[in-house]
Amino acid sequence: MLLTGDEFLESLRDGRKVYVGGERVDDVTAHPAFRNAARSFASIYDKKRAPENRDVMTVDEDGDTYSAYYLLPKSREDLHKRFETHRRIASWTYGLLGRSPDNFPSYVSGLVMDPPMFDRIRQGFGANVTNYYKHMRKNDVFVSHTVTNPQGWRMADPVAMKGRTPATLRVVAEDDRGVTVNGLKMLGTATVFCHETWCGNLQPVAPDQIKESITCAVPLNAPGVSIWARKPYERHAVSEFDNPLAARFDESDAAVLFENVHVPWERVFCHDNVEMTRAIYMRTPGHAMANHQANVRFLEKLKLIVGIASKVAEMNGARNVPAVQFTLGRLAAMQATLEGLLMGQINSGEDFGEFHTVNRRYVYAALHWCTNNHSEICDTVRELMGAGVFQMPADASVLADPKLRETFETYWSVPGQTAESRMKLLNLAWDLLGSDFAGRHMQYEKFYAGPGFVMNSYSFLTGPWKEWGDRVDELLASYDAPKPRN
Ligand SMILES: Cc1cc2nc3c(=O)[nH]c(=O)nc-3n(C[C@H](O)[C@H](O)[C@H](O)COP(=O)(O)OP(=O)(O)OC[C@H]3O[C@@H](n4cnc5c(N)ncnc54)[C@H](O)[C@@H]3O)c2cc1C
Repeated sequence: MLLTGDEFLESLRDGRKVYVGGERVDDVTAHPAFRNAARSFASIYDKKRAPENRDVMTVDEDGDTYSAYYLLPKSREDLHKRFETHRRIASWTYGLLGRSPDNFPSYVSGLVMDPPMFDRIRQGFGANVTNYYKHMRKNDVFVSHTVTNPQGWRMADPVAMKGRTPATLRVVAEDDRGVTVNGLKMLGTATVFCHETWCGNLQPVAPDQIKESITCAVPLNAPGVSIWARKPYERHAVSEFDNPLAARFDESDAAVLFENVHVPWERVFCHDNVEMTRAIYMRTPGHAMANHQANVRFLEKLKLIVGIASKVAEMNGARNVPAVQFTLGRLAAMQATLEGLLMGQINSGEDFGEFHTVNRRYVYAALHWCTNNHSEICDTVRELMGAGVFQMPADASVLADPKLRETFETYWSVPGQTAESRMKLLNLAWDLLGSDFAGRHMQYEKFYAGPGFVMNSYSFLTGPWKEWGDRVDELLASYDAPKPRN
């Protein structure tokens, strides 16, 4: 099934409990904090089923039509199809929706490649993961993932806790029908707009926190679930002209609270197993496939950033200056580096049983590259911008007043550029690189895949150290130490 945009919006009017500060939101599709972003997500649903995209974005199987991001790849061509699916979604939203509807399906497409691994955690969990994949695929379900525990409680000092139960999500009861979970999970990007959330642990869980190892999927309108959104930038956008990105693409992040929520066994994938709650992502292609999507999404955003760098330099009459061209050339080389890394992920794919998936080392190299370079790239473009944005009037109301508009055009325009067009470009650039919305993006790119040091760990853990060590041994063996003189 492929939801239309309207069906997607309708599906969000399901009684979910969303809080913005002390306000309970009745309908996220109508609320000023979320309605435009809801439409941006809805537009993805419409576009992926539009005739001009359908061939790439969908797959026909078993008499039904699914989104192509559920395709379980068996060849390089399949990987190219998945890549193009992710790329189009990211391009429609300029890479600004990190957790677009194709993100979590990429996780689950990797997880479902190894049901026996889940059965070794507990018999039946393999069927659960297969059925969950089929449920998502069949019903075009939008799922977020809340796989991080709240700060402050991880490795909490038992003395300081003074008998308090940690607030992290844990199993508090179990019966024939399933488990009851209680506690908080972070950080549900896009959860406000999702149908369900997948709770789990991407960070290690200590042996004495075994009840936190629960990995399960929960509908976001289930009794006991509430979504506590952070400050919504959409609501604070002055207008679309003033904050063109915050006004349309604030995907929102939220802490998700579970107050004694009952989860049926069919939706439990790991329980009472601290090792496997994290390992399921790494021992299957799940983590790599999801982060491949994230890399593709970043690539589309980078095109926007580099495009803005060029436009701003042009606007300021500096694009022909050799020093500025040197900077733009460096940005262009960085963009090409990432694009090359992505092609490597596909063209040097890896076999996993009957499947053929992305090259993990190149995924982690790209993740490392994006995490470590995003801030510097943004800083470079900000430097190209100079003070232009602060030379502009406070907001677009100046354009609505005929007299002020005339004065604005007289003094702020330059040959070949209206004052309005300069203000429009600078507002866009600032929303991407300097506003509250941009600040959140800075933090997102640093942390969405975990803290910085973990990026190195992924590459450490997947590096072919034996092969490299053997090369050293081979060279060492090719010459001898001097023999002692008789
Ligand atoms: C905008 C945004 C969106 C996000 N979306 C999601 C999402 O959709 N789903 C999800 O599950 N999570 C999401 N996250 C959360 C993300 O997974 C975490 O931010 C990340 O795992 C880091 O955890 P933390 O924020 O608790 O920081 P901490 O773990 O508290 O780390 C804070 C700082 O301390 C450093 N530090 C801590 N421990 C060590 C150590 N042992 N060695 C060296 N340095 C250390 C870290 O490097 C970091 O700089 C999102 C985060 C952000 C900012």
